[in-house]
Amino acid sequence: MHAVGIVAAAGSGLRLGADRPKALVPLAGRPLVCWAVDALRAGGVDELVVTIPTAARAAFREVLGPDVRLVHGGLTRTASVRAALGTVGEDADAVLVHDAARPLTPPDAVARVLAALADGAPAVVPVLPVVDTTVVVDDDGAILDTVPRAPLRRVQTPQGFARAVLADAYARLPEGEELTDDAAVVRAAGVPVTTVAGDERAAKITVAHDLALAELQVRR
Ligand code: C5P
Repeated sequence: MHAVGIVAAAGSGLRLGADRPKALVPLAGRPLVCWAVDALRAGGVDELVVTIPTAARAAFREVLGPDVRLVHGGLTRTASVRAALGTVGEDADAVLVHDAARPLTPPDAVARVLAALADGAPAVVPVLPVVDTTVVVDDDGAILDTVPRAPLRRVQTPQGFARAVLADAYARLPEGEELTDDAAVVRAAGVPVTTVAGDERAAKITVAHDLALAELQVRR
């Protein structure tokens, strides 16, 4: 199975308060995007495409090897993934879409996604249970309802797809429409999405505290 990895790295990282695109922020001295690329490779991905902010091409080229394809991202994550997908050849069997903001994803978590695809799943996402009591609030923050948490899951990346399934789903999605992840794009096209176990270490780095936690994780 030939698997292509798309690493979404074209975000600005405003919430992290960094002086550069989030994917270039160092974790233990290496940019987040390098960790994310290595995680996919270690898990069994054969070919890598990274979506980047147009203005930062030279900086990304400096830290990523010549074997990684750089694609200019769009205004939204959906637009960025669409652009990267446009460069994936029809010889690819599977596409894994991963956030650069999840640098410490263990190879096992990637391998579980690839294994489910190899078993014939058209779309698979890694998930974790919800452990906190989860509520719905009104505009003033007053609790309206407590949601039964047993069937709830937190969705991570990499999300894996049969290449043709993902390409077809993006082709059907109206230009300019934004969905929060790729599983939502294929579900909008009527494709069933299965789940495998995610991993707490694949947590997303959004704010400075998340980066501090990741630094501790690397040092352990
Ligand atoms: O903003 P958020 O953390 O949800 O973004 C998830 C991932 O999508 C990040 O790794 C970010 O770099 C990427 N992204 C992108 N293109 C955008 C916005 C976000 O590739 N226009």
